[in-house]
Amino acid sequence: MPATFLPRFLRSSVVSVIQWFDSDYEVETIAEAEKREDKVEWVRTIPFCVLHLGCLGVLWTGISWLAVGLAFFLYVIRMFAVTGFYHRYFSHRTFTTSRFMQFIFGLWGATCVQRGALWWAYTHRHHHQHSDDEKDKHSPRQHGFLWAHIGWITSSKNFPTDYRRVKDLARYPELVFLNRFDVLIPVLFAIALYVAGNWLNAAFPVLHTSGWQLVVWGFFISTTVLFHCTAFINSLAHVFGKRRYETDDDSRNSFLLAIITLGEGWHNNHHRHMGTVRQGFYWWEIDVTYYGLKVLSWLGLIWDLRPVPIAAYDPSTHLQASKLSAPRVSDQTGSVPPVHQQKPLGGLRPPVSRA
Ligand SMILES: [Zn+2]
Ligand SMILES: [Zn+2]
Repeated sequence: MPATFLPRFLRSSVVSVIQWFDSDYEVETIAEAEKREDKVEWVRTIPFCVLHLGCLGVLWTGISWLAVGLAFFLYVIRMFAVTGFYHRYFSHRTFTTSRFMQFIFGLWGATCVQRGALWWAYTHRHHHQHSDDEKDKHSPRQHGFLWAHIGWITSSKNFPTDYRRVKDLARYPELVFLNRFDVLIPVLFAIALYVAGNWLNAAFPVLHTSGWQLVVWGFFISTTVLFHCTAFINSLAHVFGKRRYETDDDSRNSFLLAIITLGEGWHNNHHRHMGTVRQGFYWWEIDVTYYGLKVLSWLGLIWDLRPVPIAAYDPSTHLQASKLSAPRVSDQTGSVPPVHQQKPLGGLRPPVSRA
Protein backbone atom coordinates (compact mmCIF):
# COMPACT_ATOMS: atom_id res chain seq x y z
CA MET A 1 0.00 0.00 0.00
CA PRO A 2 1.58 3.34 -0.98
CA ALA A 3 2.66 5.39 2.01
CA THR A 4 0.74 8.43 0.80
CA PHE A 5 -2.48 6.43 0.43
CA LEU A 6 -2.84 5.46 4.08
CA PRO A 7 -2.69 8.95 5.61
CA ARG A 8 -5.08 10.24 2.93
CA PHE A 9 -7.46 7.34 3.59
CA LEU A 10 -7.20 7.81 7.35
CA ARG A 11 -7.84 11.52 7.07
CA SER A 12 -10.87 11.11 4.84
CA SER A 13 -12.20 8.39 7.18
CA VAL A 14 -11.85 10.70 10.19
CA VAL A 15 -13.66 13.45 8.27
CA SER A 16 -16.43 10.98 7.36
CA VAL A 17 -16.85 9.98 11.01
CA ILE A 18 -17.11 13.65 12.06
CA GLN A 19 -19.68 14.12 9.31
CA TRP A 20 -21.87 11.46 10.94
CA PHE A 21 -22.50 14.12 13.58
CA ASP A 22 -21.96 17.35 11.64
CA SER A 23 -22.96 16.85 8.03
CA ASP A 24 -21.63 20.27 6.94
CA TYR A 25 -18.15 19.67 8.42
CA GLU A 26 -15.37 20.40 5.91
CA VAL A 27 -17.68 20.19 2.90
CA GLU A 28 -15.94 21.74 -0.06
CA THR A 29 -17.89 23.82 -2.54
CA ILE A 30 -20.76 22.04 -4.23
CA ALA A 31 -19.00 22.46 -7.58
CA GLU A 32 -16.11 20.40 -6.17
CA ALA A 33 -18.44 17.86 -4.58
CA GLU A 34 -20.16 17.44 -7.95
CA LYS A 35 -16.83 16.35 -9.42
CA ARG A 36 -16.53 13.47 -6.97
CA GLU A 37 -16.84 9.95 -8.25
CA ASP A 38 -20.38 8.58 -7.97
CA LYS A 39 -19.55 5.62 -5.74
CA VAL A 40 -20.31 4.34 -2.25
CA GLU A 41 -18.58 6.25 0.55
CA TRP A 42 -18.31 3.33 2.96
CA VAL A 43 -17.24 5.04 6.18
CA ARG A 44 -19.93 7.70 5.83
CA THR A 45 -22.46 4.95 5.11
CA ILE A 46 -21.80 2.95 8.31
CA PRO A 47 -24.73 4.51 10.27
CA PHE A 48 -27.04 3.58 7.38
CA CYS A 49 -25.76 -0.02 7.56
CA VAL A 50 -26.23 0.00 11.36
CA LEU A 51 -29.85 1.06 10.82
CA HIS A 52 -30.42 -2.12 8.79
CA LEU A 53 -28.36 -4.41 11.06
CA GLY A 54 -30.26 -3.11 14.09
CA CYS A 55 -33.33 -4.98 12.81
CA LEU A 56 -31.54 -8.22 13.72
CA GLY A 57 -31.84 -7.16 17.35
CA VAL A 58 -35.27 -8.77 17.21
CA LEU A 59 -33.48 -12.11 17.70
CA TRP A 60 -32.63 -10.97 21.23
CA THR A 61 -35.56 -8.73 22.17
CA GLY A 62 -38.38 -10.84 20.76
CA ILE A 63 -41.81 -9.62 19.81
CA SER A 64 -44.90 -8.24 21.51
CA TRP A 65 -48.18 -6.85 20.24
CA LEU A 66 -47.30 -3.49 21.67
CA ALA A 67 -43.96 -3.35 19.82
CA VAL A 68 -45.46 -4.40 16.47
CA GLY A 69 -48.35 -1.94 16.86
CA LEU A 70 -45.94 0.84 17.76
CA ALA A 71 -43.72 0.06 14.75
CA PHE A 72 -46.77 0.28 12.46
CA PHE A 73 -48.03 3.47 14.09
CA LEU A 74 -44.60 5.12 13.83
CA TYR A 75 -44.36 4.01 10.21
CA VAL A 76 -47.66 5.70 9.33
CA ILE A 77 -47.11 8.99 11.15
CA ARG A 78 -43.55 9.27 9.87
CA MET A 79 -44.50 8.38 6.29
CA PHE A 80 -46.97 11.24 6.60
CA ALA A 81 -44.05 13.48 7.62
CA VAL A 82 -41.97 12.37 4.63
CA THR A 83 -44.73 12.88 2.11
CA GLY A 84 -46.68 15.76 3.65
CA PHE A 85 -43.77 17.81 4.97
CA TYR A 86 -40.43 16.81 3.39
CA HIS A 87 -41.98 16.32 -0.04
CA ARG A 88 -45.12 18.42 -0.43
CA TYR A 89 -44.06 21.28 1.86
CA PHE A 90 -40.26 21.65 1.96
CA SER A 91 -39.55 20.41 -1.57
CA HIS A 92 -42.54 21.82 -3.46
CA ARG A 93 -44.12 24.38 -1.12
CA THR A 94 -47.60 23.23 -2.08
CA PHE A 95 -49.12 24.90 0.98
CA THR A 96 -48.26 27.63 3.45
CA THR A 97 -47.75 27.47 7.20
CA SER A 98 -46.31 29.49 10.09
CA ARG A 99 -42.63 29.52 10.97
CA PHE A 100 -43.38 27.66 14.20
CA MET A 101 -45.28 24.86 12.45
CA GLN A 102 -42.59 24.73 9.77
CA PHE A 103 -40.10 23.97 12.55
CA ILE A 104 -42.40 21.31 14.02
CA PHE A 105 -42.68 19.74 10.54
CA GLY A 106 -38.89 19.79 10.26
CA LEU A 107 -38.56 18.09 13.67
CA TRP A 108 -41.23 15.51 12.85
CA GLY A 109 -39.54 14.76 9.53
CA ALA A 110 -36.15 14.43 11.21
CA THR A 111 -37.39 11.38 13.17
CA CYS A 112 -37.67 9.56 9.80
CA VAL A 113 -33.86 9.31 9.57
CA GLN A 114 -33.87 10.54 5.96
CA ARG A 115 -31.53 13.38 6.86
CA GLY A 116 -32.54 17.04 7.14
CA ALA A 117 -35.39 18.75 5.32
CA LEU A 118 -32.98 20.95 3.34
CA TRP A 119 -30.92 18.04 2.05
CA TRP A 120 -34.11 16.15 1.19
CA ALA A 121 -35.62 19.15 -0.61
CA TYR A 122 -32.37 19.86 -2.48
CA THR A 123 -31.95 16.32 -3.79
CA HIS A 124 -35.63 16.12 -4.65
CA ARG A 125 -35.74 19.43 -6.53
CA HIS A 126 -32.65 18.22 -8.39
CA HIS A 127 -34.59 15.04 -9.30
CA HIS A 128 -37.45 17.06 -10.79
CA GLN A 129 -35.08 19.25 -12.75
CA HIS A 130 -33.17 16.29 -14.16
CA SER A 131 -35.72 13.47 -13.90
CA ASP A 132 -34.35 10.45 -15.73
CA ASP A 133 -31.72 12.43 -17.63
CA GLU A 134 -28.03 11.68 -17.16
CA LYS A 135 -27.72 14.06 -14.20
CA ASP A 136 -30.57 12.52 -12.20
CA LYS A 137 -29.14 11.19 -8.94
CA HIS A 138 -31.55 8.24 -8.73
CA SER A 139 -32.84 7.32 -12.16
CA PRO A 140 -33.39 3.59 -12.82
CA ARG A 141 -33.03 4.39 -16.52
CA GLN A 142 -29.57 5.87 -16.05
CA HIS A 143 -28.11 3.92 -13.14
CA GLY A 144 -30.13 0.73 -12.77
CA PHE A 145 -32.78 -0.20 -10.23
CA LEU A 146 -30.53 -0.89 -7.23
CA TRP A 147 -28.62 2.38 -7.49
CA ALA A 148 -31.88 4.32 -7.88
CA HIS A 149 -33.30 2.55 -4.84
CA ILE A 150 -30.45 2.60 -2.35
CA GLY A 151 -27.06 3.20 -3.98
CA TRP A 152 -27.35 6.92 -4.66
CA ILE A 153 -27.93 7.75 -1.00
CA THR A 154 -24.54 6.20 -0.12
CA SER A 155 -22.61 8.07 -2.80
CA SER A 156 -19.99 10.59 -1.71
CA LYS A 157 -21.32 12.87 -4.43
CA ASN A 158 -24.74 13.07 -2.84
CA PHE A 159 -23.98 13.64 0.85
CA PRO A 160 -23.50 17.45 0.83
CA THR A 161 -26.51 19.79 0.79
CA ASP A 162 -26.51 22.34 -2.03
CA TYR A 163 -27.93 25.25 -0.04
CA ARG A 164 -28.18 27.34 -3.22
CA ARG A 165 -31.10 25.21 -4.36
CA VAL A 166 -32.97 25.66 -1.09
CA LYS A 167 -32.39 29.35 -0.42
CA ASP A 168 -36.04 29.77 0.56
CA LEU A 169 -35.48 27.29 3.43
CA ALA A 170 -31.88 28.19 4.29
CA ARG A 171 -33.14 31.58 5.53
CA TYR A 172 -34.26 29.83 8.72
CA PRO A 173 -31.35 29.03 11.08
CA GLU A 174 -33.44 26.51 13.01
CA LEU A 175 -33.94 24.46 9.82
CA VAL A 176 -30.25 24.75 8.90
CA PHE A 177 -29.37 23.51 12.42
CA LEU A 178 -31.61 20.44 12.03
CA ASN A 179 -30.11 19.82 8.60
CA ARG A 180 -26.51 20.17 9.73
CA PHE A 181 -26.84 17.99 12.84
CA ASP A 182 -29.21 15.51 11.23
CA VAL A 183 -28.26 12.66 13.58
CA LEU A 184 -29.44 14.52 16.69
CA ILE A 185 -33.20 14.00 16.45
CA PRO A 186 -32.99 10.30 15.45
CA VAL A 187 -30.73 9.59 18.46
CA LEU A 188 -33.07 11.44 20.85
CA PHE A 189 -36.00 9.58 19.29
CA ALA A 190 -34.34 6.19 19.89
CA ILE A 191 -33.46 7.15 23.48
CA ALA A 192 -37.09 8.20 24.11
CA LEU A 193 -38.27 4.78 22.89
CA TYR A 194 -35.78 3.04 25.18
CA VAL A 195 -36.91 5.05 28.21
CA ALA A 196 -40.60 4.50 27.37
CA GLY A 197 -40.07 0.74 26.95
CA ASN A 198 -38.24 0.43 30.27
CA TRP A 199 -40.97 2.39 32.03
CA LEU A 200 -43.73 0.27 30.49
CA ASN A 201 -41.89 -2.90 31.46
CA ALA A 202 -41.75 -1.78 35.08
CA ALA A 203 -45.27 -0.30 35.25
CA PHE A 204 -47.13 -2.86 33.09
CA PRO A 205 -45.21 -6.16 33.00
CA VAL A 206 -48.25 -7.75 31.37
CA LEU A 207 -47.29 -5.99 28.13
CA HIS A 208 -44.14 -8.15 27.88
CA THR A 209 -42.04 -5.38 26.41
CA SER A 210 -38.72 -3.73 27.22
CA GLY A 211 -36.63 -0.71 26.35
CA TRP A 212 -34.56 -2.52 23.76
CA GLN A 213 -37.63 -4.18 22.24
CA LEU A 214 -39.22 -0.79 21.55
CA VAL A 215 -35.94 0.48 20.12
CA VAL A 216 -35.65 -2.51 17.76
CA TRP A 217 -39.28 -2.37 16.58
CA GLY A 218 -40.08 1.33 16.89
CA PHE A 219 -36.76 2.62 15.62
CA PHE A 220 -34.76 0.06 13.62
CA ILE A 221 -37.49 -2.02 11.95
CA SER A 222 -40.04 0.76 11.48
CA THR A 223 -37.40 3.17 10.12
CA THR A 224 -35.82 0.62 7.77
CA VAL A 225 -39.21 -0.28 6.28
CA LEU A 226 -40.02 3.43 6.07
CA PHE A 227 -36.80 4.06 4.16
CA HIS A 228 -37.39 1.30 1.60
CA CYS A 229 -41.03 2.20 1.02
CA THR A 230 -40.01 5.83 0.47
CA ALA A 231 -37.21 4.70 -1.85
CA PHE A 232 -39.70 2.71 -3.92
CA ILE A 233 -40.87 6.06 -5.29
CA ASN A 234 -37.40 6.67 -6.70
CA SER A 235 -37.01 3.14 -8.03
CA LEU A 236 -40.32 1.27 -8.59
CA ALA A 237 -42.45 4.36 -9.37
CA HIS A 238 -40.21 4.99 -12.37
CA VAL A 239 -40.56 1.45 -13.78
CA PHE A 240 -43.82 -0.05 -12.49
CA GLY A 241 -47.36 1.22 -13.07
CA LYS A 242 -49.34 3.19 -15.61
CA ARG A 243 -48.68 6.51 -17.22
CA ARG A 244 -51.53 9.00 -17.59
CA TYR A 245 -49.48 11.95 -18.78
CA GLU A 246 -46.72 12.31 -21.30
CA THR A 247 -43.67 13.47 -19.38
CA ASP A 248 -40.02 13.42 -20.35
CA ASP A 249 -39.30 10.91 -17.59
CA ASP A 250 -40.48 7.38 -16.78
CA SER A 251 -42.75 8.26 -13.84
CA ARG A 252 -45.78 6.03 -13.29
CA ASN A 253 -48.98 5.80 -11.26
CA SER A 254 -49.43 2.79 -9.00
CA PHE A 255 -52.32 2.08 -6.62
CA LEU A 256 -50.18 -0.32 -4.59
CA LEU A 257 -47.38 2.20 -4.12
CA ALA A 258 -49.95 4.88 -3.29
CA ILE A 259 -51.30 2.74 -0.44
CA ILE A 260 -47.95 1.96 1.16
CA THR A 261 -46.65 5.52 0.75
CA LEU A 262 -49.86 7.33 1.70
CA GLY A 263 -50.41 8.78 -1.76
CA GLU A 264 -46.97 9.15 -3.32
CA GLY A 265 -47.63 6.30 -5.75
CA TRP A 266 -49.46 8.71 -8.09
CA HIS A 267 -46.02 9.65 -9.28
CA ASN A 268 -46.83 10.32 -12.92
CA ASN A 269 -49.56 12.74 -11.81
CA HIS A 270 -46.98 14.37 -9.57
CA HIS A 271 -44.27 14.68 -12.21
CA ARG A 272 -46.77 16.31 -14.57
CA HIS A 273 -48.31 18.66 -11.99
CA MET A 274 -45.75 18.93 -9.21
CA GLY A 275 -47.06 22.20 -7.79
CA THR A 276 -50.28 20.74 -6.40
CA VAL A 277 -50.75 19.55 -2.82
CA ARG A 278 -52.79 16.60 -4.04
CA GLN A 279 -51.28 13.66 -5.94
CA GLY A 280 -54.35 11.45 -6.37
CA PHE A 281 -56.40 13.53 -8.79
CA TYR A 282 -59.65 11.51 -8.64
CA TRP A 283 -61.60 10.19 -5.65
CA TRP A 284 -60.47 6.64 -6.34
CA GLU A 285 -56.82 7.65 -6.37
CA ILE A 286 -56.32 7.19 -2.63
CA ASP A 287 -54.05 9.91 -1.25
CA VAL A 288 -53.98 9.65 2.53
CA THR A 289 -51.39 12.42 2.84
CA TYR A 290 -53.75 14.83 1.15
CA TYR A 291 -56.58 13.88 3.53
CA GLY A 292 -54.24 14.45 6.48
CA LEU A 293 -53.16 17.82 5.14
CA LYS A 294 -56.81 18.78 4.69
CA VAL A 295 -57.39 18.03 8.37
CA LEU A 296 -54.39 20.21 9.30
CA SER A 297 -55.89 23.00 7.18
CA TRP A 298 -59.27 22.66 8.98
CA LEU A 299 -57.35 23.03 12.25
CA GLY A 300 -55.84 26.25 10.89
CA LEU A 301 -52.27 24.91 11.07
CA ILE A 302 -51.66 25.13 7.30
CA TRP A 303 -53.42 27.06 4.57
CA ASP A 304 -53.26 28.04 0.91
CA LEU A 305 -53.29 24.42 -0.31
CA ARG A 306 -52.43 24.58 -4.02
CA PRO A 307 -55.20 22.87 -6.00
CA VAL A 308 -54.98 20.53 -8.96
CA PRO A 309 -54.94 22.58 -12.19
CA ILE A 310 -58.08 22.07 -14.25
CA ALA A 311 -55.88 21.19 -17.24
CA ALA A 312 -55.01 17.96 -15.41
CA TYR A 313 -58.58 16.73 -16.05
CA ASP A 314 -58.57 17.46 -19.76
CA PRO A 315 -58.68 14.03 -21.46
CA SER A 316 -56.74 15.41 -24.41
CA THR A 317 -53.74 15.75 -22.08
CA HIS A 318 -54.00 12.06 -21.12
CA LEU A 319 -52.08 9.32 -22.88
CA GLN A 320 -54.96 6.82 -23.04
CA ALA A 321 -58.42 7.68 -24.33
CA SER A 322 -60.30 8.25 -21.15
CA LYS A 323 -63.86 8.40 -19.95
CA LEU A 324 -62.87 10.60 -17.05
CA SER A 325 -65.21 13.53 -16.89
CA ALA A 326 -64.04 17.10 -16.69
CA PRO A 327 -64.61 18.82 -13.35
CA ARG A 328 -67.69 20.89 -12.78
CA VAL A 329 -67.36 24.58 -13.59
CA SER A 330 -68.44 25.44 -10.04
CA ASP A 331 -65.30 23.69 -8.77
CA GLN A 332 -63.04 26.26 -10.34
CA THR A 333 -61.46 28.65 -7.90
CA GLY A 334 -59.17 30.77 -10.02
CA SER A 335 -55.56 30.50 -10.96
CA VAL A 336 -52.83 29.56 -8.50
CA PRO A 337 -49.31 29.42 -9.88
CA PRO A 338 -47.54 26.14 -9.31
CA VAL A 339 -44.54 26.34 -7.01
CA HIS A 340 -41.08 24.96 -7.79
CA GLN A 341 -41.85 23.71 -11.23
CA GLN A 342 -38.19 23.91 -11.98
CA LYS A 343 -38.35 21.98 -15.20
CA PRO A 344 -40.19 23.64 -18.07
CA LEU A 345 -43.41 21.73 -18.59
CA GLY A 346 -43.37 21.62 -22.34
CA GLY A 347 -46.12 23.90 -23.54
CA LEU A 348 -48.51 23.42 -20.63
CA ARG A 349 -50.87 26.36 -20.42
CA PRO A 350 -50.82 28.36 -17.21
CA PRO A 351 -53.21 26.31 -15.12
CA VAL A 352 -56.67 27.35 -14.14
CA SER A 353 -57.09 25.71 -10.83
CA ARG A 354 -59.51 23.36 -9.19
CA ALA A 355 -60.20 23.04 -5.49
ZN1 LIG B 1 -39.70 10.80 -9.76
ZN1 LIG C 1 -41.71 15.86 -6.06
